[in-house]
Amino acid sequence: MYGTFGQRLMLFLFPATLFAALYAALPYLGLLPPSWRDSLPYAVYLILALGLLLSFHFNRSRVFFVLLLLLAFCWNGSLISSGGEGGAAFLRIDGILVFLLPLNITLFCLMREKGIFSAPGRKRFVFLALQALALMIVVKTGRADAQEVAGSWLHSVEGGARQLPRWVLPLMGGCGVIVAGMTYVRRSLIDGAFLAVLAALAIVYSHPAADGTQTVFLFGAGLILTASVLQDSHNMAYRDELTGVLSRRALNEHLNGLGRRYVIAMLDLDHFKRLNDSYGHDVGDQVLRLTAAKIQSVGGGGRAYRYGGEEFAIVFSGKSTENVLACLEELRASIAAYRFAIRGPSRPVPSRQGKKNRCGADADRNISVTVSIGVAGNADEKKSPREVLVAADTELYRAKQRGRNRISSS
Ligand code: GH3
Ligand code: MG
Ligand code: MG
Repeated sequence: MYGTFGQRLMLFLFPATLFAALYAALPYLGLLPPSWRDSLPYAVYLILALGLLLSFHFNRSRVFFVLLLLLAFCWNGSLISSGGEGGAAFLRIDGILVFLLPLNITLFCLMREKGIFSAPGRKRFVFLALQALALMIVVKTGRADAQEVAGSWLHSVEGGARQLPRWVLPLMGGCGVIVAGMTYVRRSLIDGAFLAVLAALAIVYSHPAADGTQTVFLFGAGLILTASVLQDSHNMAYRDELTGVLSRRALNEHLNGLGRRYVIAMLDLDHFKRLNDSYGHDVGDQVLRLTAAKIQSVGGGGRAYRYGGEEFAIVFSGKSTENVLACLEELRASIAAYRFAIRGPSRPVPSRQGKKNRCGADADRNISVTVSIGVAGNADEKKSPREVLVAADTELYRAKQRGRNRISSS
């Protein structure tokens, strides 16, 4: 999933675009009817509650806990704004949350997904509860001048920008670098959302409470977390986890909705079992992932699916076989010409068989693979998509019989 550089960039671009749009919309906030503006803070609670519900439903614990933290932050903020008794204590809590939030978000980013009410999930609840308890103790037993300290740390609620201690933004920057690194390395949509939350908090902390920026960006943070849960769950249902290519379930739905003219190509990696036997399953996975990225970039409007194992299907809607053969030939040739630079140690295969099998590899572990492709279209428009798929599979078998690394079409 999100295997290529361009796809990984999307993990950063989506939140960045949303935030740019929110920033651009800020000056127009004043044009909203006053009743709408007054209800903006409720919209923040609403999106946080929706995110909590969805992350609970899809068992996305990391998002769930980060949403809980944001909720606590917003709630505390509203208690400060409402003034009244205990205002100083809430200010002090805010003053401590300013560094607890980025640290916790980074920690949750580094953690693995382990469920909300599972045993590890319960430990995470305890971890947050202990922090809340410590916070209460610090606030209750704080020295008299703690109030002044907190006051100077944070917002003058009456509309001035928050007075942050100098090290808060560098701390957020440091956390941001870690979370950005995790997003890039793990190719995780949810880590990308955490990065957006950190960015939103940096904006919130550097803007006055009264001009609406805080509300808008807290809403943005909640929206991105909620959207990441939905998108992640959609990916789980419709995308293959290893390669990020659309799954067989998505292919079945696409086949049901095809029009009258279309072409289906079936692809199968040649001698892939041999590659696995020579280099180990992990290297096999890497080659599969990289080949899948190439297959996904096929031209001619083809949409790629992982059919199963090392087999892929490409569907070209509104095309005839002649239209797509050149694109498929280009794809076949580019896969055959590509040298996969394999990272990490592979399983040692000391046997003679291993040496014999390393036919497609250079000494510096550059591996090459080839694919065979079978193509069929519904030229007479009488076949069902399943029949065309079977015909493409028959052609694939023919391509293998004829020596592999080639295309056969009906
Ligand atoms: P052919 O050219 O006839 O297609 O030979 P082949 O070895 O590719 O075909 P075969 O069907 O005998 O073996 C397919 C192999 O693909 C077996 C299996 O180990 C490997 N394979 C299937 N899925 C995966 C996967 O997700 N990861 C890895 N590493 N290997 C896989
Ligand atoms: Mg094969
Ligand atoms: Mg196969």
